[in-house]
Amino acid sequence: MPTVELPAGQQIPALGQGTWGLGEDPAYHDEEVAALRTGLDLEMTVVDTAEMYGDGAAEQLVGDAVFDRRDDAFIVTKVLPSHAGRPDTLRACEASLHRLRTDYIDLYLLHWPGPVPLDETVDAFTVLQDQGKIRFWGVSNFDGVDLMELTAVQDGGAVQTDQVLYNLVHRGIEWDLLPACQRDGPLIMAYSPFDHRGTVLRHPAVAAVADRHGVTPAQVAITWVLRQDGVTTIPKASTPEHTRENHGALAVRLDLEDYAVLDRAFPPPDGPRPLEMI
Ligand code: NDP
Repeated sequence: MPTVELPAGQQIPALGQGTWGLGEDPAYHDEEVAALRTGLDLEMTVVDTAEMYGDGAAEQLVGDAVFDRRDDAFIVTKVLPSHAGRPDTLRACEASLHRLRTDYIDLYLLHWPGPVPLDETVDAFTVLQDQGKIRFWGVSNFDGVDLMELTAVQDGGAVQTDQVLYNLVHRGIEWDLLPACQRDGPLIMAYSPFDHRGTVLRHPAVAAVADRHGVTPAQVAITWVLRQDGVTTIPKASTPEHTRENHGALAVRLDLEDYAVLDRAFPPPDGPRPLEMI
């Protein structure tokens, strides 16, 4: 498994797993747990979730998938901006730990920028780190100016990741945020590599590249995202079959002709764009 390095020096796998939408229907519980555990078997140990997903249902599902093999997982979860004040963050973290059936979170993120002053959230993250309840912290959906504001507050420079929308359809970060983070910033964790509802997977250009190599559109989409240095991605899969297929992307090699085809179908940004989010 290829790895990427957090600013703190910790190596994490480049390919992890998302969980938005999992845990919401008991009929699929066992298959979804199996999907996540298949990923752990394949070293896709970064498991991304959030208190928001299914009002805690996704965190509970992650707990069911990892409770007896906690050390195999690098759990990422997120606090809502409405809980980002100091006491609320401490409470939200306790609730997440309970649902996740663990006593520590590997990486705790602020889900998106909100009205609470960042120094309060960073202060709460620092307390949680001191208590051993979180190992690292980061943010999500932060644009360049948000990151500048963050790093200006006390201890704000300890930010480890910025989890943002990045896929063939949404390439805006290539203009400025991505190169800035690659130079000297938090690691970019690309969410929705298939564009959430799979738009990317149904595009004829992606299908053509996949056919050329005898691989699948999902594998092309993941390989394309991971071509960038210092980027990790977290596709969500509900079945072990999809998880295995996504893992298969690590063996795919695209060439210059493939990238040219994809650039024509999904042009790179030609100027700065506001950060997009789902
Ligand atoms: P993705 O781009 O990962 O796409 C998920 C969809 O792709 C699902 O319908 C899934 O189907 C399908 N899929 C997965 N594998 C395959 C495959 N091999 N072949 C065909 N279809 C496949 O969308 P998400 O929006 O879920 O993004 C991934 C994760 O990123 C989220 O789950 C979440 O953890 C995180 N995220 C974070 C956000 C943030 O604000 N920080 C916002 C959005 C996402 P199926 O379920 O049937 O396998």
